[in-house]
Amino acid sequence: MKPAQVAARLSAEVAGDVLQPGDAAFLDAAAVFNREFQHQPALIARCTTTRDVVSTVRAATEAGLPLTVRSGGHSHGGSSVGAGALVADLRGLDSIEVDEAAMTVTVGGGIGAGPLVEHLHARGLAAVTGFEPRVGLSGLALGGGYGLLSRMHGLVCDGLRAAEVVLADGSVVTASAHEHPELLWALRGAGANFGAVTRMTLDVRPLPPIYGGVISYHAGRSDELLPRYAEFVSAGVPDATTVYVGIDTVPNGLSTLSLLAFHLGDLAEGARAIAPLTRWGRPVASEVGEVDLLALHAPGRDTFPEGFRHAWRSHFVPTFEAATAAALVPAIEEARAFSSWTVIEHLGGAIGAIDGAATAFPHRRAGFGLVSALKWEGDAPAGPLAWQERLWRELSPGSLGSYVNYVSPKHGPEAVAAAFGANLPRLVELKRRFDPHRVFCGNVTIPPA
Ligand SMILES: Cc1cc2nc3c(=O)[nH]c(=O)nc-3n(C[C@H](O)[C@H](O)[C@H](O)COP(=O)(O)OP(=O)(O)OC[C@H]3O[C@@H](n4cnc5c(N)ncnc54)[C@H](O)[C@@H]3O)c2cc1C
Repeated sequence: MKPAQVAARLSAEVAGDVLQPGDAAFLDAAAVFNREFQHQPALIARCTTTRDVVSTVRAATEAGLPLTVRSGGHSHGGSSVGAGALVADLRGLDSIEVDEAAMTVTVGGGIGAGPLVEHLHARGLAAVTGFEPRVGLSGLALGGGYGLLSRMHGLVCDGLRAAEVVLADGSVVTASAHEHPELLWALRGAGANFGAVTRMTLDVRPLPPIYGGVISYHAGRSDELLPRYAEFVSAGVPDATTVYVGIDTVPNGLSTLSLLAFHLGDLAEGARAIAPLTRWGRPVASEVGEVDLLALHAPGRDTFPEGFRHAWRSHFVPTFEAATAAALVPAIEEARAFSSWTVIEHLGGAIGAIDGAATAFPHRRAGFGLVSALKWEGDAPAGPLAWQERLWRELSPGSLGSYVNYVSPKHGPEAVAAAFGANLPRLVELKRRFDPHRVFCGNVTIPPA
């Protein structure tokens, strides 16, 4: 069946619009965050109900069209908008229902992290999310998902209590501890491979007081600052404290090494925990005090503007030690000749309190995520990209694997093993059971055999 025929049939079935190339809204609806992987889909079905999603999944499989499922469109590999695919755009499934007695929130499968944080904040509540409000909550949760609350409360997927899922044959099931628990296990870290998630029920918590802020130093001092960070985190940091490092290099300006340091709970304790980080020599900027969770969720439009091409590489590592600092220092020195962003994500705490086999997300021993991010417009920057690959290879020996949510098709077939580690055989088994024909592909596609 031709896409136009599929569109005609689907339009009669779904409540939302079905867009085709040439429609006024098509290009905007197809746009993804990473323009390096911007594909032209065949059709976009703007779903507003679970029934719409069922019709879309059935239409794609019956017509032999590839299907991709989209929520926030921020996957690194642009995997939610496939070339020549029928896109099930779930952004119209944006309901939010809070159950304060159960301390849960049930959301539609297309909700963004930002609207959820705002909705909960107004009620004095919070859920684990990432730092970027434009990211879709489904994409985040189904790959693991971590942010400011994670060292205290685990991954986004750890708080996933139940999900409504449209499977490859168009049937609708609930995955919970009581129904299809093996599917819930798979959704918690490899979820984009098993179905279209139309509803999720997640844990919420009382909104915590937060003390912290950003302390920026000159990146030229990385040789001294990174070993200090290694010392600081090795000395033992409470789960309530999280300290990310962001190294921002710019060719003709001030390159900075910033500590993003936050403490949840008692403010005086927070002030004591963070104070030493403000005394690593003279900062170029420092703003530390009581902060509001909502203010921390301002979109990263400076670091991650719309309309750019991006290349990311990541490693999970168990510890951040002097040896890792020593590998990073010359790389950062070299990167001061161009624009780059290198991040040390502070993980561990509650993330690691769970066994690696308890959910599909396998990297529970990861104390840190090492991420390198490049962005550009126009031609690919050959020098910086070669630098990134070299750095990634240099850091590989200590790596536990990579974060599925930072993977792109350019990372090759080895990305599957790097993302799912020891859980891959069980995932392959479940893929065979729930999606043997690979209707759902995700950031990386689990082979069914
Ligand atoms: C600027 C930026 C900041 C980020 N910050 C963080 C962070 O702080 N913490 C963190 O953990 N990650 C972070 N990420 C990574 C982010 O978690 C992933 O990019 C995530 O995959 C994006 O989800 P999405 O819904 O926006 O993207 P999409 O491209 O819409 O979806 C991602 C994948 O999930 C699938 N999918 C989406 N919705 C569904 C659904 N309802 N059912 C089934 N499959 C679905 C898609 O098919 C696709 O394969 C960040 C990414 C960016 C670009």
